[in-house]
Amino acid sequence: MGQPSAWQAALAEAITDPAELLEAVGLGSQMLPAALAAARDFPLRVPRGFVARMAKGDPDDPLLRQVLPLDAECHEAYGFGRDPVGDLAAMVAPGVLHKYHGRVLLTATGACAVHCRYCFRRHYPYGQATAASGHWRDALAHVAADPAVSEVILSGGDPLMLPDWRLHEFTQALEVLEQVRRLRIHTRLPVVLPERVDQGLLGWLAGVRLQKVMVVHANHPREIDASVRAAFARIRESGVTLLNQSVLLRGVNDDVATLASLSETLFEAGALPYYLHMLDRVRGAAHFEVAEAAAQALMGQLAAQLPGYLVPRLVRELPGADAKLALAVSAGGGSAQEPNA
Ligand SMILES: *Cc1c(COP(=O)(O)O)cnc(C)c1O
Ligand code: SF4
Repeated sequence: MGQPSAWQAALAEAITDPAELLEAVGLGSQMLPAALAAARDFPLRVPRGFVARMAKGDPDDPLLRQVLPLDAECHEAYGFGRDPVGDLAAMVAPGVLHKYHGRVLLTATGACAVHCRYCFRRHYPYGQATAASGHWRDALAHVAADPAVSEVILSGGDPLMLPDWRLHEFTQALEVLEQVRRLRIHTRLPVVLPERVDQGLLGWLAGVRLQKVMVVHANHPREIDASVRAAFARIRESGVTLLNQSVLLRGVNDDVATLASLSETLFEAGALPYYLHMLDRVRGAAHFEVAEAAAQALMGQLAAQLPGYLVPRLVRELPGADAKLALAVSAGGGSAQEPNA
């Protein structure tokens, strides 16, 4: 290994100390004891560039809420468990999840640049379960054995935490398998650490001969700043279809104005809204939950404001189901606008 690249250096500089985060956003130490307690279960981690997009002095800032450990995480809530979507039952080999027809999802690595407090994989036993181990041998063998698999999804953790050579090693072996037509990458790095989108990554992407889809993850329009727009543009120039998935989160994006602005901001940056996920009921995240009826009503209002292609699909993941469950949108969402005569 030579010098760390610029993105690895930026990653190493991420804030992991709750006291430092509170100070950086101009909040006093009042929230510190709770943050320290909650961080013991799932440590704090957030890149400095993401912190710079937070409003100063606002404990309810929607970006801060996604990453600051809170007292509420320490309360048990009925129905919130450690493996809410049945991942462990769907694991066919270390780091290989095969739930749906034609698509295999690989938890390529357990690492992430940011620790999202609502993450459904916050208790995931990554130590035993990543697809990149052993030069991807088990993952590739599983895909090769099933002629129905036409799409392979790199997920995690965050697959772009892997160094370029590891990604290259994987896609070179994958391209040999004839039935595989598409590579999909689920990543939050272009949003939280746009430095990752460097020449090395772009060179790898441009060289992959499969059709390429990248699903990024932003929940609030303020996450998309100029550095993120530039990263998205370079990704698209490498021949990648860019989509976004979000999680519906109380106190972050559970109002129609925020969701509408998120969709428009994403589209201006070159990404289409794909899924809006209902929260997975993972232990420690109950305070983020939005009730299903409220979510469906919100979607009705959103659909009344936006063109159809800017309305993400509201979905919930059910253990054992053969697709993500699309929730119906409530009609009569109560558009503020009366039709003009
Ligand atoms: C969400 C998910 C997928 C992808 O589902 P799409 O509906 O195609 O986006 C694939 N495999 C697993 C295990 C998943 O959880
Ligand atoms: S980046 Fe994705 S996998 Fe990582 S903590 Fe956030 S939601 Fe979870």
